[in-house]
Amino acid sequence: MKRIAILGGGIAGLSAAWSLEKARRAGQEIEYRLYEAAGRLGGVIASETVDGCVVEAGPDSFLTEKPAAAQLCREIGLGEELFGSNDAERRTYIVVGKRLIPLPDGLMFMVPTKLVPTALTPLFSVRTKLHMAREFLFPPPPATSDESVAEMTRRHFGQETVDRLVSPLLAGVYGGDADQLSVRAVLARMVQMEQKHRSLTRAMLAARKQRGPAKFPPPLFTTLRGGMSQMVDAIASQLPPQWIHLTTEVHAIDRIEGARHGLRREATGWMVETPFGQELFDAVILALPAWGSASLLRPIDHPLAEALSGVPYSSSITVTLGYEIGRLPNLPPGFGFLVPATENRSLLACTFVHAKFAGRVPDDKGLLRCFLGGARNDQLLDENDARLTVIVLKELEEILGLKAPPSFVRIHRARQAMAQYGVGHLERIQLVRDRVDELPGIALAGNAYQGIGVPDCIRTGQEAAESALRAVNAAVGAGAC
Ligand SMILES: Cc1cc2nc3c(=O)[nH]c(=O)nc-3n(C[C@H](O)[C@H](O)[C@H](O)COP(=O)(O)OP(=O)(O)OC[C@H]3O[C@@H](n4cnc5c(N)ncnc54)[C@H](O)[C@@H]3O)c2cc1C
Repeated sequence: MKRIAILGGGIAGLSAAWSLEKARRAGQEIEYRLYEAAGRLGGVIASETVDGCVVEAGPDSFLTEKPAAAQLCREIGLGEELFGSNDAERRTYIVVGKRLIPLPDGLMFMVPTKLVPTALTPLFSVRTKLHMAREFLFPPPPATSDESVAEMTRRHFGQETVDRLVSPLLAGVYGGDADQLSVRAVLARMVQMEQKHRSLTRAMLAARKQRGPAKFPPPLFTTLRGGMSQMVDAIASQLPPQWIHLTTEVHAIDRIEGARHGLRREATGWMVETPFGQELFDAVILALPAWGSASLLRPIDHPLAEALSGVPYSSSITVTLGYEIGRLPNLPPGFGFLVPATENRSLLACTFVHAKFAGRVPDDKGLLRCFLGGARNDQLLDENDARLTVIVLKELEEILGLKAPPSFVRIHRARQAMAQYGVGHLERIQLVRDRVDELPGIALAGNAYQGIGVPDCIRTGQEAAESALRAVNAAVGAGAC
């Protein structure tokens, strides 16, 4: 019987476990163990219901266009629980001073594709609008090497587009800093478009023409009725409970050369050490933040550990406020707002949850989910709950004119949880892959590599499981020679 260890019980580790479980049920002679440091599974995914409202500590949904998450949900029996965002209400505002300015219609991330809304929006100055027109007529030459998202945006649409659009979008989505994030890693499609068309506006218009009009476009976001934790619970319920070890932090892993019965001398095994002892495995999947994998792999492969520890992480805080809906009379229609760093506020973004997802909040309630922290505001993590609540309520009053006290408050901190793909990320990850290829039986999964969203993490878990299975099957072949 071949043995595989999974380190980390976030969605990446759970997805790997589910892939191994399917292989086992299909007749593969394997057993596996999942080690999770915390007392619960899910990593940053955690949901609770307060006053009938689903409150998310981490992700509240996933992008519909990335199929891995919805597909996994269907496999584990949650197909009926999936539902989409309420896109008829989709409108996002940018805070400028004390005003909420809606994003102009036709904006595809930072690329304007509709003339009239772009010309009329008060979000951009005349100078920026002229810059946008020039981009269409006289686009800048494509970059020859990786650059930051801010740099690419600045070349095409000017600094104000960075400040009022791209920086707040990336801070809201990635907890990230547009001046640091790699355009090749984060916006690969834009880079391809630039190579082909030079003008991003022309490229977007061409892509839209090719797609044709979508009669019933799918919702932008998909989620689960009872919260994202449903996914965690449903996967866990399909795994043998005796193979899941909670509150079991892995302290070390070590390579054991040629020590297994039936294997040739050069075959390897891996010793996994926890506070409860040591166990030998044929393969190990590290579904941890890159900094966690780095510290375990340092004694085994120093350059690999250096490459992994060079992936920066940011932290985030969410402050979720519940209200009687009658107390939110001035809320504008839409999904919420983003706050540019140039506004010098603590808030990064606020989601109007009751508007974004119908049915997750009772009709007579309203739920505001506020984001703080991110790459530029890490010190807020040290503030206590009372202080964070005061900060958020004060800023909501200034921005929304909201004076009513909330009926409940929930605060969640995710420390060093969001990988940041800095300039040069793709080369770094290629180096990581090359080194991991030299360590038979080791596979990596999680948000540090090819996308930080839930579907990306699920995909890395599946790929890591396939890689581990290939490694143990190769070892079986070698043993048989
Ligand atoms: C506030 C927030 C909002 C987000 N919103 C969205 C969203 O709306 N949509 C979206 O798609 N994505 C979103 N994301 C991103 C996405 O949720 C994460 O990237 C993803 O869930 C990370 O999963 P993971 O398994 O890679 O890591 P994690 O969830 O961090 O899990 C890693 C696990 O490893 C465990 N661990 C660490 N060290 C050890 C050790 N030595 N031994 C054993 N166990 C260990 C940890 O305890 C943890 O449980 C959000 C993230 C955050 C923080």
